[in-house]
Amino acid sequence: MKKYFKDLEGSISFKYNLKNTNWFNIGGVIEAYFKPKNLKDLVRLRKNIKKKEKIYIIGAGSNLLISDKGINGIAIKLGSNFSNISKVNETTLIAGASTIDKKLSEYAMENEISGFEFLSCIPGTVGGGIRMNSGCFENEFKDIIVSVQALDENGNILSIPKEKIEFSYRKINLNPNLIFLSATFKGKKGEKNKIKKKIFTFKEMKNKSQPSKIKTGGSTFKNPIDQTDKKVWQLIDDSVGRDVKFGDAKISKKHPNFFINEKNASFKDMNNLINFVKNKVKQKTGINLDLEVQIIK
Ligand SMILES: Cc1cc2nc3c(=O)[nH]c(=O)nc-3n(C[C@H](O)[C@H](O)[C@H](O)COP(=O)(O)OP(=O)(O)OC[C@H]3O[C@@H](n4cnc5c(N)ncnc54)[C@H](O)[C@@H]3O)c2cc1C
Repeated sequence: MKKYFKDLEGSISFKYNLKNTNWFNIGGVIEAYFKPKNLKDLVRLRKNIKKKEKIYIIGAGSNLLISDKGINGIAIKLGSNFSNISKVNETTLIAGASTIDKKLSEYAMENEISGFEFLSCIPGTVGGGIRMNSGCFENEFKDIIVSVQALDENGNILSIPKEKIEFSYRKINLNPNLIFLSATFKGKKGEKNKIKKKIFTFKEMKNKSQPSKIKTGGSTFKNPIDQTDKKVWQLIDDSVGRDVKFGDAKISKKHPNFFINEKNASFKDMNNLINFVKNKVKQKTGINLDLEVQIIK
């Protein structure tokens, strides 16, 4: 493993505990954890590894559930050198993959560009948002993306136009091994005050319906939009209720699709809770729930 990092400038830690890299605050030790210093560094690592090792990209970790048993492979965390935002013209922005969504939303507001307001409600990064086609209040990443810049397994940098990407509900069809580097976004000319109001309204709506300041991965399951009109939280309420607990893993009282690590939940606790809810919903409604949370194990 050490040979891959020999000539690299970024920071490398071997046997790194991933527990503090994600919102659930659950996770174990991975073989290597790398923060590339810059793009050149990342490209060199990618060329060194090719397809020989499993790699995991960690954004803000707001959608990740990580095993607390040992994990083989390399976790890559893009740092501040990948978080530049620049304005290309009146309505077009480019943002690095590790840019926090909220920062991009604020930048767009300051530059009087509308369409980015929903990003103020998603606690992730641009890279995670592209991978998940994240969204809320009827907006998704796909609505503002123009193109995505990414690094492939052979170390080539690609620019992929929106037209070549199939976006669907919390999913895109691009190779899961691509590392997103940045994206070009387009909004509309707006007025700062109106944008500010919209952000405020979105945040209020979010705070009313979802818990905050807790250890969670956000929505655990996707809404089964092709099987029923009911939202997943209703299905969980009808089939399970809100009082189930496995160790320190429990269902949020405020929003039953949010699962919470109350204190020191293990991966097994959270996984048991997930499987229990999935099975109960299947038994009661016949509906197969799909996980939205991404599991690393
Ligand atoms: C309190 C809370 C509220 C939430 N609300 C919403 C919401 O309203 N709407 C919504 O859609 N989601 C929501 N989420 C889920 C989550 O915030 C989003 O999915 C977010 O976009 C994930 O971004 P991230 O940077 O945290 O990605 P991570 O959780 O770190 O990773 C998610 C996936 O993206 C991949 N990834 C991350 N960066 C890159 C990269 N640079 N290149 C390639 N792959 C990458 C990871 O490998 C992983 O597969 C919420 C989560 C929490 C905790």
